[in-house]
Amino acid sequence: MPQDALLLTEQELMLQHTVREFADQTLAPRAAELDEREEFPWENFRALANLGLLGLGIPEAYGGAGGGFRESSIAMEEMARACAATSVIYGAHLSLACQAIARFGDEAQKRRHLPPLVRGERVAAFALSEPGAGSDAASLATIAGRSGDDYMLSGSKLFITNGDVAGTYVVFATHDPALRARGISCFIMERGTPGFTATRQGGKLGMRASTTAELLFQDCPVPSEDRVGEEGGGFSIAMQVLEASRITIAAQSVGIGRACLEAAARYASQRQAFGQPIAGFQAIQWMIADTAVEVDAARLLTRRAALLKDAGKPHGTESAMAKLFASEAANRAANRALQVHGGYGYFRGSAVERYFRDARVTEIYEGTSEVQRLIISRAVLGRLGNV
Ligand SMILES: Cc1cc2nc3c(=O)[nH]c(=O)nc-3n(C[C@H](O)[C@H](O)[C@H](O)COP(=O)(O)OP(=O)(O)OC[C@H]3O[C@@H](n4cnc5c(N)ncnc54)[C@H](O)[C@@H]3O)c2cc1C
Repeated sequence: MPQDALLLTEQELMLQHTVREFADQTLAPRAAELDEREEFPWENFRALANLGLLGLGIPEAYGGAGGGFRESSIAMEEMARACAATSVIYGAHLSLACQAIARFGDEAQKRRHLPPLVRGERVAAFALSEPGAGSDAASLATIAGRSGDDYMLSGSKLFITNGDVAGTYVVFATHDPALRARGISCFIMERGTPGFTATRQGGKLGMRASTTAELLFQDCPVPSEDRVGEEGGGFSIAMQVLEASRITIAAQSVGIGRACLEAAARYASQRQAFGQPIAGFQAIQWMIADTAVEVDAARLLTRRAALLKDAGKPHGTESAMAKLFASEAANRAANRALQVHGGYGYFRGSAVERYFRDARVTEIYEGTSEVQRLIISRAVLGRLGNV
């Protein structure tokens, strides 16, 4: 990527180099096998911890490596290029759950929960979505009832990344569904809490080595000191965490897009048809050119959103733009890469077939493309006083 020397600092270039090398040597060789077996990659997770990547954006006082979303986006992109499923695990752990605790937890919560998560001794999950509440997260129905000074959680969550392997959960529940957003609080809950069970939801289209789980809460006791932020302040926490985390989903999409571009270019140079490499045909050249432009544009949007976030500036619209464009670009990149591979790309065992499946969910989680368009259009129309 020729522009990197201009866009990234010396330190960021070093981080990129380190993660790229690690991803090529450790993540890429096992990605297909893990995908086939739907196997959670514990070795990868521990290796991320050993490299210090689980601490990116987490203050040093809690064992983290400091930095911010610029650093975690660089790591995410490199990881996703090699093994997108590992990057999903990383994103849910770090950019969702750990960030929620680091940004909104009190001192005692941060001291207790963050160090083991940074060291990779535990996996973290972020539990917002429910069977009846996805895009419309304010309609969640998991109840946080009162039990003396403490709380009792009852209800269920669906599609929770890392849900069945996590030791630490950031959970959102409502005191009164009629209050919608104003009724929701955020809690930290640990594995082993009475009444809590997690069941893996197998059979995903892509990102198959990442686990996704249904969580069940049957009168789970949660002490009031494990509530994060104010009572009723949980929805705002969830939205702020997602606003920033979308930057890393954009970076993940860029990583998948790059993998597609590289695979398409390599194959086009080798595959012969009509007496020449297919790279000689303009139709193929244009597919590769379009992907190259879109992946680079997605990267620049991602970088801008990360710079804004790390500078403490408003970044909601920019992170939505980055996530929307990058995820759709990754899907176009995967579609074209598969087309370049012809029939060979359509079978299990071809890397582009996996990229094609992995790319799809980037348009769904952490806000669907439709939700991103809502956020962006509201910002644009709002400036004109229309909404
Ligand atoms: C692999 C995977 C991992 C996930 N990990 C997590 C996780 O770790 N934690 C977590 O909390 N959640 C997680 N999710 C859930 C994810 O965030 C939701 O699936 C997503 O927000 C969409 O919600 P939904 O599936 O209920 O779809 P719905 O909200 O029911 O949407 C269905 C369709 O309607 C559209 N739609 C809805 N509202 C509008 C509107 N106002 N305007 C226009 N169109 C609209 C949507 O865009 C979509 O096309 C994960 C999901 C997947 C698939």
